[in-house]
Order: sequence, then structure tokens, then C-alpha cells
Amino acid sequence: MELKLYNTLTKKKDVFQPLIGNEVRMYSCGPTVYKDATIGNMRTYIFTDVLRRVLKYNGYTLKHAMNITDVGHLVSDADEGEDKMIKSAKEQGKDPLEIAKFYTERFLNDLRALNIDMPEIICKATDHIEDMIEFVKGLVERGYAYETSTAIYFDVAKLDKYGILSGIDLNEQKAGARVELDKEKKNAYDFALWIKAPDNHLMKWESPWGLCYPGWHIECSAMGKKYLGDEFDIHTGGIDLIPTHHENEIAQSKGLTGKIPARFWIHGEYLLINGGKMSKSLNNVYLLNDIIDKGYNPLAYRIFCFSASYRNKLNFTWEAIDASNKSLIKLKEAYKKHLEGNEDVSDEIINEFENSFHRAINDDLNMPQAISIVWEVAKYNKKSKKMAELLLKFDKILGIKIDKMEENKEVIPKEVLELVKQRKIARINKNWELSDTLRHQIEEYGYKVKDLKDDVEIEKM
Ligand code: AMP
Ligand code: ZN
Repeated sequence: MELKLYNTLTKKKDVFQPLIGNEVRMYSCGPTVYKDATIGNMRTYIFTDVLRRVLKYNGYTLKHAMNITDVGHLVSDADEGEDKMIKSAKEQGKDPLEIAKFYTERFLNDLRALNIDMPEIICKATDHIEDMIEFVKGLVERGYAYETSTAIYFDVAKLDKYGILSGIDLNEQKAGARVELDKEKKNAYDFALWIKAPDNHLMKWESPWGLCYPGWHIECSAMGKKYLGDEFDIHTGGIDLIPTHHENEIAQSKGLTGKIPARFWIHGEYLLINGGKMSKSLNNVYLLNDIIDKGYNPLAYRIFCFSASYRNKLNFTWEAIDASNKSLIKLKEAYKKHLEGNEDVSDEIINEFENSFHRAINDDLNMPQAISIVWEVAKYNKKSKKMAELLLKFDKILGIKIDKMEENKEVIPKEVLELVKQRKIARINKNWELSDTLRHQIEEYGYKVKDLKDDVEIEKM
């Protein structure tokens, strides 16, 4: 069956075929590990995981690389500002690599909790400094880069066209009033490949241009080329990466190899919180752990992400997570019922459902459509093992562990457990008034405590 994917490069859904044989070579921009990944970041990795699973469902094998940005990149997407990793290191009084290791582990834990398949290659920027130096040297030799007193810059004017992903018109930009921060830059859109480190800079490496550290974009070009070749199949990331990071990756690769590194550029839309952006100042930055702490299965967040196409904005609310958690439980129950059933369902019906599901996922990963077919199968009036098998097959894409019932067990929120602990102490101290107040507080979370002889039982109301 034909697989179509929306390609930011061509601005349409293109039929996908790997460039070589049956193997899909794919690169995903990974996290900058100086703080915890948010559920917004996780939406992008869930979309990438669905893409991986859809490619496998279609019989392809994968060579998928994802970087870990552990050198930090500058605070804004442009070249100005303070290094994110170093800022975090200073704030926490730790070595930048310690910070990176800590947050990398937490990031990988989130991927595991969301049942996201690990990319075949996970590569850290700091392990690839030599590859980056070689890349920059190549660009200088080919005349695409120039040195200033502060950095090695990419010269965008040397390219036949800069801005093919986002449609930037350099001529128009020249006329605009863009403030120039570095007077030595030849063009406003020239970006730093390699930056000369000030004396007090924590992370820096020897290079032909002295002690330096990499610009943000060069790591992805260097690692993509190293692991996947000059031209590979798919490059993914969140939509915010289109105008700067991915545009610059394309520029770098075109400068060195003459080729756009990937044929398909696929971007995931943003997760919104209550209709707006997630931000520290609005106090609405959520982590996967916040969802887990409220007693939800993290896979409820996965199901929630399937309620919109990856190309549409998706609005996060706690009500929606609650509903997704219920859906998760219902789907697992439906699977079990089918597994225990012995009614007759014809192969034609099974094939029809399978085809509709396959058509949906192959239509640019249309998960809302795919999920509606999953529900049709789940609720099918005749209960049959064949239907259970079909749901298990669909779970190759859903990744909700539909056959694992024990995961339905309610996780009691840590706030409730804390109140129960305090209440136990109050009762030991015969402080009945406090014990009653705490019981009410527990009830406000939707839980009931039953006092047993030496213990308590906690139940959802
Ligand atoms: P970062 O660690 O900031 O480099 O981001 C990691 C990935 O998450 C990138 O692909 C971003 O485009 C993506 N991302 C950041 N914020 C959001 C959001 N609110 N919704 C979806 N994806 C996001
Ligand atoms: Zn990248």
C-alpha cells in the first residue's frame, strides 16, 4: 500500500520510498539536555515514534539517528545570547557534562515510559567534535565559510538559494531593518558554525581556529552525514526548527556535499496549554512526571497525542488526559473481552478493518482516523480471538501495551499518599480533628480511606 508523508520541502504529501533498498535512514533532532523535556517536546518524540512504527508496519527496516545536544546552544535560535548549558551549569553549580548526563538519563526515562522505541543510534554532540571540525574545515576550503574575530561563519550568499524550507527571501530581508549584532558578518543570515571561546567559557575544544565550541546547527549536519550518509531519507523535528536550525543544516550540507541531506523533511506541530504557549512565566510548563504524579498512566498521554494529526496544533487539558486514561483502560478491557470470546468473525471483516487502519496510517500518519477504526474493532459486537489479534497488530502502531492488563492498576497520586501518611501520624497521636481534616482533603482528590486494624485501604471514590 502506498505510504504518503507530508514533506515540508515540497509542501505536499509525497509518496515515500527509501532511496536505497528497504532501509529507511532517518535523522531526528534530539533534546538539548540542560533541563527536563516538557510534554510539548514529548509530543514531537511521540510523532517520530509513530513515524518509525508506520515505516516498520510497511515492511521497512530502520537506521534512525537522534542527537543529544550536550554542548548547549545559544539562548536564542540565532547566534546571540548565553550558552544554555553553561547558564544551567552556573545556576546549579555543576559541571556542564554532569548536567547533560543527568538530564539525558531523565529524557531517556520519559521515552521508555511513553513506550517510544529507541533510535538505532543515539549520538552525543561532545563525542563528535572532530567530525564537526572536519565539516567546518571542508566548508572553509570550499569557500562557504569565513573567519571573523569571534567565529567561523557560514556565508549564505554563496548558496544558489538559502531558505528553501521556510521560503525566506534574502533580498527582501536585506531591505528590512534587522539589527546586526556582529559587524564582521557579511550577510544578516550568516550563522556561526564554530565559535571562538572567551577565556572564561567552560566548554571549549582545540581546533584549527584556536579554542572554540560548536554552533548549534553543525552537530546535526556532521552526525547525520557520519551515520546516514550525504543523502538520506527522512529528517524530523518540531516546526520551530524549520526557519533556523533546519534551514541552516541544509545550507551546511549543500555547501559541503552539494546535496540537501534528506529527501523528506517532516515536522510536528506544537502542543499548546489551555490554548496558548507553554511558558515558565505562565507557570504552565508540564513534564511527563506531572502526569504520572497525578496517578495517570503515561501511555494516556500517548493516546491523547493521537487525538490530532501531528501536523495540527493540539491543546493540552487535564480533562483530556483524564478521558485518555479512561480510553486506555477501556481499550485494554475490550482486547481482553475479544481474547476470551469465541464468536465467529469472517476473514473479510478482519481484512476490511485491517485495510482501513493501514490506509489511515499510510495517509500521512492519520492517527485520529486510525484510532476511530481501533474503537470500531474494540466495540465490535461479536467477541473473537481474531479481533484480539487484530488489536494486537494495531498496537504495533499505537504502542499502548494493549495486552498488558496489570498496567491498568490505578497509581495513587503522591499527594494522596502523603496525606494518608500524615493522617496515620495524626491517628497515632489521637488527634482526631486533624485526622478528619486530612480525610476530607484526601476525598477532595477523589479517594476514600478505610481504616483497617493496623493499616488503611485507599480506594478511588
Ligand atoms: P529542544 O530540546 O528545545 O531542542 O526541543 C526538542 C524538540 O521538541 C524539538 O524538535 C522542538 O521542536 C520540540 N518542541 C519544543 N516545544 C514543543 C511543543 N510545545 N510542542 C511540540 N514540540 C515541541
Ligand atoms: Zn538538529
